[in-house]
Amino acid sequence: MSRKFLPTNADFGSLNVIPHDAIFMVRCLACGEMREVNRLFLEEKAGHTAQLKVIEKRLKCSCGQKAAKLMAGYYGVEHPRLGSKDRS
Ligand SMILES: [Zn+2]
Repeated sequence: MSRKFLPTNADFGSLNVIPHDAIFMVRCLACGEMREVNRLFLEEKAGHTAQLKVIEKRLKCSCGQKAAKLMAGYYGVEHPRLGSKDRS
């Protein structure tokens, strides 16, 4: 089974309340590209008390669009039963 990025559903608010082992991922809503971003990069860009939704407004994709969605989560294996519609 392959590991994939699993965003948490929690609304963290600001950077400083997010666990330090979390992975930050930016997805571009315009072109769909996903890339991992370093926490330090985000802290340097906006400060460690910045709200995620404020930071994502500053992020620009390589396609030129400012349509970033910033997510915090972990790499893991998706639970096989979640998202499955054909339960017997
Ligand atoms: Zn893009």
